[in-house]
Amino acid sequence: MQKIYLDHSATTPMNEKVLDAMMPYFTSEFGNATSIHTFGQKASLAVQRARENTALFLNCKASEVVFTSGATEANNIAILGLIKALQKNNLGKIHIITSTIEHPAVLECFQLLEKEDDIEVSYLPVNSKGIVSKDEFEKLIKDNTVFVSMMYVNNETGAVQPILDIAKTIKKVKEKRKKEGAKFPLYFHTDAVQAANFFSCDVKDLGVDLMSLSGHKISGPKGVGVLFVKDNIVLEPIQFGGHQEKGLRSGTLNVPGIVGIGEALLFAEDRRKTNSKKVSGLRDMLIEGVTENIPDVVLNGDMDNISPFHANLGFKGIEGESILLDLDFEGIAVSTGSACASGALNPSHVLLAMGIRKEDAHGAIRFTLGSSNTEKEIETVIEKLPKIIKRLRKIAPKN
Ligand SMILES: *Cc1c(COP(=O)(O)O)cnc(C)c1O
Repeated sequence: MQKIYLDHSATTPMNEKVLDAMMPYFTSEFGNATSIHTFGQKASLAVQRARENTALFLNCKASEVVFTSGATEANNIAILGLIKALQKNNLGKIHIITSTIEHPAVLECFQLLEKEDDIEVSYLPVNSKGIVSKDEFEKLIKDNTVFVSMMYVNNETGAVQPILDIAKTIKKVKEKRKKEGAKFPLYFHTDAVQAANFFSCDVKDLGVDLMSLSGHKISGPKGVGVLFVKDNIVLEPIQFGGHQEKGLRSGTLNVPGIVGIGEALLFAEDRRKTNSKKVSGLRDMLIEGVTENIPDVVLNGDMDNISPFHANLGFKGIEGESILLDLDFEGIAVSTGSACASGALNPSHVLLAMGIRKEDAHGAIRFTLGSSNTEKEIETVIEKLPKIIKRLRKIAPKN
């Protein structure tokens, strides 16, 4: 059976050139990058090259790149590490802001911090299209707001957030505080995992202080990520050991993985320029085909403000899980909500935050495309899906 993979938001197939670049570091070049001998030097050189490739992609200095075990760890270090450092400055009560639609790797850090007496957390809501408002954001800022974490592109809906506007507001507040000699600093972190494929992640253009990326979402390997930490920003480690990565991420460097993410980022510009149109074309074809051939389907999101590879579609009256299983039986891989939340039958926190009713959120399917998908594959989905939906609606209990 032909297999059709439409779950690129969960993970992507690895680029063969990336794998080729990694291979020697599993075998002949197996040295520990911190060893002093020649084996170590070779590994260390490969890490340095990857750091420079990453810096090129981010438009930052190589010294501002911290390699981690993934974006989950990058988010944890950014958020918990920064707050821990700020708490050492005796600022008194501090206020931090995130959005309601963040990845659990961000949300759960904020939920943890919220339990501390000296920390107040605000969760910026989204509109029905899944997008935060910069005006609402501005209203949330207080004199003691020290940190904002706002994702770039949402993993479930593909909704693109107004990161630039958020950064501008933050800059304005910082300038005002500087003039007034206020004691509170203000830092901006973005989880750019889902943006790195098709959007510019130039940290200077975006005006961010901290940014998280993941290897396996950009045709690179799993188990490796990047945290951009702007010069002079002090983070406290949240993990202890051998002091690798400027003490921020103790643990033997994953050399093959680091080589892989550095290599994968080299292809980012290519993807942005050539693949973005192709992928969004296929995605539009899918949305059109599905909505024309199936009644009661809604796009959870806004066509004008969505990443090129996402389509989150809500099928009224049925459970997303049964659609997913029926499609899988036909060799078509999609997801409900986010991969991490799969298995749990809770409706997606992102869709609920958009004001979608619980029973409708249960009927959501996330299609996320990649550059290896073809028109033929999308035609197959458009042909198979109406029958599946019709059958499931027939057997669904009426409420
Ligand atoms: C996948 C994902 C993560 C987690 O990345 P890992 O490298 O798998 O830990 C974090 N944020 C977003 C938006 C994601 O899509």
